[in-house]
Amino acid sequence: MEDISIFEEVSGMGHEQVVYCHEKSTGLKAIIAIHNTVLGPALGGTRMWMYENEAQATNDALRLSRGMTFKNSIAGLNLGGGKAVIIGDARKHKSEGMLRAYGRFLKNLNGKYITAEDVGMNANDMEHIAAETSYVSGMPETRGGLGDPSPFTAYTTYMGMKAAAKKQFGTDSLAGKKVSIQGAGHVGEYIIQHLVKEGCEIYVSDFYEDRVKDVVNKYGIKGVSLDEIYDLDVDIYSPCALGATVNNETLERLKCSIIAGCANNQLANEKIHGDLAMQKGILYAPDFLINSGGVINVYAEVIKTSKDWSWNKCEFVYDQTLKVFEQSAAQNINTQQVAIDIAQQRIDQVAAIKSTY
Ligand code: NAD
Repeated sequence: MEDISIFEEVSGMGHEQVVYCHEKSTGLKAIIAIHNTVLGPALGGTRMWMYENEAQATNDALRLSRGMTFKNSIAGLNLGGGKAVIIGDARKHKSEGMLRAYGRFLKNLNGKYITAEDVGMNANDMEHIAAETSYVSGMPETRGGLGDPSPFTAYTTYMGMKAAAKKQFGTDSLAGKKVSIQGAGHVGEYIIQHLVKEGCEIYVSDFYEDRVKDVVNKYGIKGVSLDEIYDLDVDIYSPCALGATVNNETLERLKCSIIAGCANNQLANEKIHGDLAMQKGILYAPDFLINSGGVINVYAEVIKTSKDWSWNKCEFVYDQTLKVFEQSAAQNINTQQVAIDIAQQRIDQVAAIKSTY
C-alpha cells in the first residue's frame, strides 16, 4: 500500500470514523467512511470498483462520504454523510456470500451508517445485504422498497442541466443542444432518455463497449471512445461515470459551456478546478446538488413514505441550482463552494441546537 497517513487524511477532511472490513472466504475488502452524523445517520451508497490500490479506494471512500454530507444537507434530509467502497470487479467478483459478509459488518455499526446502491451495485444486491442487516435502503419494490434510485438521480441531474442552460443560454430548453454523456450506466441511460425526448444531439462513451452499443442502438445516438469525449464540440459535458474527470488536463480540452452530470466528485480539486472552470466561462452545476434525486428516494424508503413524495421533493433542484449560480456570480465564488457553504450552514445550525440536552 502506498505510504499515506490515514489519520491525517481522515482528520483533514473531518471524518468521524473509517471502518475496514475483510472476510477471507469471499475475498471481501470493504471500506466504510462515516463523514458527519450531525443531521442523522450517515447514508450513502456502496460502490464496487476495480481500484488500482487500497490508497485509491480509501481516498474514494473519504471523498465520496464527504460529498454525501453536503448532498444530504442541501436536499434538506435528516441524514449525515457516509459512503462505502468494495474493492473488486463487480462483474467478476461479486457474490451473495460477499454481499452478506458485508451486510454483517454494516449490522455491527448499529445504524450509524445506512447503505444503498452506487456504481457496480443494484437493487438485487441490496436484497443480499438485507439478509444480514436492516441498515440498507434502495431495496427492490417486490421487497417493499422503493427500487432503483437512478431515475430520480437522472431527473434532478436533468433539472440541473436545464437550470444551467437557463443561466448560460437564457432559455432552459435543451432542444438542439449537443451533449456528451460519459458513462451509460443506470443513471446515464435515464439521462439519455430525457435528452432524446427533448431533441438533443447526444454523444456517449462507456468503459464497457457493450453498454455503448446498447444505448447507441436503442436511442440512435453517437458512440465515442473513452478519450475522445473530452475533445467534442458540445454545449454540455455530462460526467456520469466516476469522479475527478474535471481536472487540469480535461479543462484544457473541454469546449463546452456547461458541465452538468450525475457523477460524484467531478472536480479533481474543488477549489482549483471550480475556480478554473469559472475563469474559462464554463458553468459548473454542483454535482452533489444536481444528483441528489437518488438519495431523496432512498431516504423516502428509510422514512417509509412514497415515490410521489420523492418526485415532489426532487423539484427543489432547479430553483436551488439557479440560486447557486446567481450567488456565485454575485460573490465571485465558484459554484461548488457556494453550494458547500449553503449545505454547511444547515449542519452548523443543527449542530448548535444540539449543544444543550
Ligand atoms: P453504474 O455503475 O450503473 O454506471 C457507471 C458507468 O460508468 C458504468 O457503465 C461504467 O462502465 C462507466 N464508466 C466507468 N469509468 C468510465 C470512464 N472512464 N468513461 C466512461 N464510462 C465509464 O453507476 P450509476 O449508478 O449510473 O452512477 C453513475 C455516477 O453517478 C456515479 O459517479 C455515482 O456515484 C453517481 N450517482 C449515482 C446515483 C444513483 O442513483 N445511482 C446517485 C447519485 C450519484
